[in-house]
Parts: sequence; structure tokens; C-alpha cells
Amino acid sequence: MKIARSLALFMLLNLAAIPSLHAENGLFQYSTIQALMEGIYDGDLTFKGLSKHGDFGIGTFNALDGEMIGVDGKFYQVKADGVAYPVAETAKTPFANVTFFRAEKTINIKKAVGFNELEKCLGALLPSANLIYAIKITGTFPYIKTRSVPRQQKPYPRLTDAVKQQAVFEFREIKGVLVGFRTPPFLSGVNVAGYHLHFITADRRAGGHVLDFRTGEAEIETSRMTKFDLHLPQNAEFLRKDLTAGGEKAVDRVEK
Ligand code: ZN
Repeated sequence: MKIARSLALFMLLNLAAIPSLHAENGLFQYSTIQALMEGIYDGDLTFKGLSKHGDFGIGTFNALDGEMIGVDGKFYQVKADGVAYPVAETAKTPFANVTFFRAEKTINIKKAVGFNELEKCLGALLPSANLIYAIKITGTFPYIKTRSVPRQQKPYPRLTDAVKQQAVFEFREIKGVLVGFRTPPFLSGVNVAGYHLHFITADRRAGGHVLDFRTGEAEIETSRMTKFDLHLPQNAEFLRKDLTAGGEKAVDRVEK
């Protein structure tokens, strides 16, 4: 009896010592922003596969068919018509960043602030310039400007050319959620250095890649990513592409 009890206790302690699957907040990334810049718009990873690594995040779809937002356990596709569609498990992504989001720090803002002021607020929540942070901002936005890109045809143009066909959407006094990441400058080429945010409305019907916004009353949640898991495409397009050129300025032009 005593042995059984101490065995049970031992097992319990051991279970407690095993970190739960998502105890460490990690960023999972598929492909690189530079590969996307160079027109690698087809990946081999399905959303079923992606969802094993996270359900909160941003990215795009094969053939660059719109903007992806993962929030509250669901993935959405904002196509060039500005409408958010649910994503099939069989759909594939050429570029995505996901995590299992668990808020580490939360603040509430009461008044309308532009991006520059918000950045100052975020400074306290995201103290190190050298870490990756996940960001979720839920609230009312007096103004928000997003874009989406139309599905591309082969041979694929570079991203700087593809975004010339982007559709831009403006929302006023809209409820919704911003989802994204802040990535350190030393990861440029791999990811978008700085802030990269996507938006979806509270009714989950519209959104896109965020170009500009003002936030009203909102809850800001952030989480530090303590590890970074980069998976690279194995298709011929990725394997053969010359990815030696630096594209930091071009990334800024396309994404900001
Ligand atoms: Zn984006």
C-alpha cells in the first residue's frame, strides 16, 4: 500500500516535471520572406500540417492567394475581394508564422492611439529588441487600412511586382483583432524585421495585411517566443532559386 502510494506520488511528480507540449512558446515558420520576395509562391505544407505547430499567426497561401490570419484556433483567408474565408485543411502555404498563443503580458488602452504611440506602449511589453514576440490586439479600431494580393499565375512575378495588383481596404470604427509578430532586425531575410500584423474583423468576415491603423479601446496581449523552428520547402523551385541577394529594403517596401 505504502509502495503503491509512493509510486503514485513519484508518477505524479514526474508528470509535473514533464513540460506540457506548449509550455515553451515557440515560433514555427515555414519558408523565408526572401524566398517569398523572389516569387516562391508554392509550398508543400498543408494547413492540417501547419496546425500541428500553431493556430495563431500570419502568412499566405499557395499562388499568393490572399492573406492568412490564424486566431482563436481557426485559420482565415482574406482574398483580394477583401472577404475572409475559412481555410480547408488541404490548402497549402508557401510562407507562414504560427505559434500556440498564450498571453504572457496584457495591457488595456483606453484612448485612441496611432501606431507610433502604440509602439511606445509596446516598448514596455516587448523589452528586448533581440527577441521574437507574438502580439494580439483585440478592440475597436477608429481606422485601419489593410491589403490583400490576388492569386498569381505562373511564371510567378517577384513580390515587388505582385503587390502592384494589391487591393487596399479601409475600415472605420471597426471591431476586430490584430495578429502578428515583432521580429528582431538580425532575422531580416528570414522574416519581416519589425512588426508584421494582419487584421480580421470581429465578425470574421474581412481583414488583410495591415498597412496602417489607429487603435481605440483595446486589449494588447503579448508573448515572448523562446525558440524558433524554421522549416524550409523541399520543392525544386525553392531548392534551385538563387537566394543570395539581400532584400531588406525591398521587404520594407512590400510589407510596410
Ligand atoms: Zn502580411
